[in-house]
Amino acid sequence: MTNGEYLYARVPADMPRWIEGLALQMTIAGRDAPARQRGSVIHAGNAAEIADYPDADTGHVDDAVAAARAAFPGWAATSWDARRVMLERFADTLFEHLDTLALIVAAESGRPLRRAWGEVAFAVDYVRTIAAQVLPDVRIERPGARVRLRRRPLGVAAAIAPWNGPVILAVAKIANALLAGDTLVLRPSPFTPLSALYMGMIGRGVFPAGVFNVITGDAGVGAAMTVHPDVAKVSFTGSTATGKRIAAAAAPTLKRLTLELGGNDPAIVLADADVETLADTVYRISLENAGQFCAAIKRLYVHESIYDAVAAAIVQRAQGAVPGSCFDPASTMTPVQNRPQFDRVWALYDDAVAHGAQVLTGGVRHEAAGLFIPPTLVAGIGHGVDLIDQEQFGPVLPILPFSDEEAVLELANRGDYGLGASVWTRDVDRGIALVERIDAGTGWVNQHGAFTAALPMPFARQSGIGMDYAEYGVAEHSQAMLINAKL
Ligand code: NAD
Repeated sequence: MTNGEYLYARVPADMPRWIEGLALQMTIAGRDAPARQRGSVIHAGNAAEIADYPDADTGHVDDAVAAARAAFPGWAATSWDARRVMLERFADTLFEHLDTLALIVAAESGRPLRRAWGEVAFAVDYVRTIAAQVLPDVRIERPGARVRLRRRPLGVAAAIAPWNGPVILAVAKIANALLAGDTLVLRPSPFTPLSALYMGMIGRGVFPAGVFNVITGDAGVGAAMTVHPDVAKVSFTGSTATGKRIAAAAAPTLKRLTLELGGNDPAIVLADADVETLADTVYRISLENAGQFCAAIKRLYVHESIYDAVAAAIVQRAQGAVPGSCFDPASTMTPVQNRPQFDRVWALYDDAVAHGAQVLTGGVRHEAAGLFIPPTLVAGIGHGVDLIDQEQFGPVLPILPFSDEEAVLELANRGDYGLGASVWTRDVDRGIALVERIDAGTGWVNQHGAFTAALPMPFARQSGIGMDYAEYGVAEHSQAMLINAKL
């Protein structure tokens, strides 16, 4: 989506001062919640501080949960329609603030402004799509009884969001919880807290006080949310390792969980695949966006007969990348968002090279201060090397040739993840038959990472628990209750 181009002409000359002027605050019970300490946001494009923000401590968790708990009975008692209407107003409000939010997202994430704009525009659509969902009572026919399964709100939900899609991944959690009748405490990633703070502030004019609270804070604050006795539900997006810690922390009170975790998605490219479409997708989701997408293609298995053509098509796109500031309309290449992730991706790259990887493109460290990793394609390594066995979450993609379909299916099913998988072929029936044999939450044919809030997103194996989007994400924020009346 490139409709945000006009915004490049409106970038504030002094971005830190512009952000300071927004006077971002946490929102608890519809009001500013002062903080004793401040955190800082490092801009990935130049590794310099771009903003500081009010940083929560665990006391804020108690305050925010108390506010959400106090607001819960009133919110749960409002009609589904009333909650839908408020979410539609929230979508309209996000749209009114689209430009400001896009500038904030670019500043805090370092991604090109047009992509940040696209993220917020999609987020508006996500809220509208989720707001339109319904969870009607289900009548069950039984002789001599009137039986129905109804859904009711759960209580206070805690949402812990990641840095790779600070608005889009947060709004899905907001809309799911609030439509279901839960009240919410949202805690964004400490790497990208600014857009969430802003959404909390604009949300004050939409939702009753206490319904939608936003606090910041580090992993300790996140952990305090997951053990709080008054939190009924935790919705978390992040790594599998943290997801396991959250599941353990939530166990003593059996909190409901939606865990959207890591992935190591395979793509299998058959001999008759459309090379250009595949190369466009690989470049767009796995390389250009610095690979910071849960469902990027992270292992690319290509039939030996078209291996050279696929590699060449990806290399050609990667070599057109223009690294530079996210506020420069000419730059197309996104830096990695944060230093730990930057170091991790280079370590995986170095390890692959030490194992004999052949670098088809990229791999060269950029002299600029920012956290740039060029789009990198490596060949000549197999399973047993971490770049293939683990999630890289960065723009370094391994490409592997295959000749035997059964053997490649076995490789695709290796490892503990099960987020997504794709098969690429002109024979769609064959593609479906093959992708069904991969143990993943989503199986795509001739596309990958294609999400919309209108379709469910299930999580298989250690890529998560539960299902997001469509009516399913909302249902996960509700408690099913069976009513069984004897006639
Ligand atoms: P992360 O697990 O490192 O951190 C996530 C958040 O959890 C952070 O904000 C952190 O402060 C917090 N946290 C850490 N320890 C905690 C604890 N014990 N209790 C509660 N909170 C705690 O993940 P990340 O680096 O922010 O995100 C990248 C990961 O997210 C990747 O693995 C990616 O695949 C995954 N992801 C998944 C999806 C999906 O929908 N499946 C979407 C986006 C990202």
